[in-house]
Amino acid sequence: MPSQTTHTQAPLLSGTDLTKGYGRTTALRHASLAVDRGESVAVMGPSGSGKSTLLYCLSGVVIPDGGEVLFDGVRVDELPEARRTDLRRSDFGFVFQFPGLLPELPAAENAALPLMLEGVGRRDAVARARELFPTLGLEGLERRRPGELSGGEAQRVGIARALVLEPAVVFADEPTGSLDTRTGDEVMSLLVSTVRDRRAALVLVTHDERVAERCDRIVHVVDGRTVTEPRTAR
Ligand code: ADP
Repeated sequence: MPSQTTHTQAPLLSGTDLTKGYGRTTALRHASLAVDRGESVAVMGPSGSGKSTLLYCLSGVVIPDGGEVLFDGVRVDELPEARRTDLRRSDFGFVFQFPGLLPELPAAENAALPLMLEGVGRRDAVARARELFPTLGLEGLERRRPGELSGGEAQRVGIARALVLEPAVVFADEPTGSLDTRTGDEVMSLLVSTVRDRRAALVLVTHDERVAERCDRIVHVVDGRTVTEPRTAR
């Protein structure tokens, strides 16, 4: 387990000077991004600019060719694959454009799945998942199947599932991409506030300026390079 005390001054998660190429394509050119507990960072940029590659490098899915990724004082890019997989399971949560819920399971059980996969008994896991429902505006929907939920509700169940293991960092890739503007706004508000209240860090990839503006900082990725906007007064 990474120590929580040795790097009190350093950000919780940082990628520094990251480079990554795929054959003749250069996806990242000395890109950097850091995020702290309770902080949210939006990653914006045109399609193909390297946003997903940056997210994958930070979350230990992809190993950069150069630079370093530090999570709580640990060099993620130097960990063997099995340790990176463990880290993703125990310390990172993921929210995608589509929540990918299992249609035959009630909402609370969908949200409880990561706990059950960790070996927590069904009853305990579901009870813990249900605790997240009121904060995410899902109270009363615990027993509904995904087919009985709206798009926004299903995405909030996806957020509950990402939060149920109490991750230190939540990565979200276009979490409102499949929702209408109003529903997307609601889901974003809940995502940002819930992650902040739980003192987790949020790294969110989006094309949508409105979505990005809800975060504490915006990092623009242009042709594999990162440009950080000054911190907004929020
Ligand atoms: P974005 O998320 O901003 O759309 P990506 O990080 O997905 O950008 O991609 C950056 C560049 O790297 C693009 O030119 C893309 O085609 C390329 N790329 C990304 N992943 C791969 C891969 N697995 N194999 C080959 N090229 C890739």
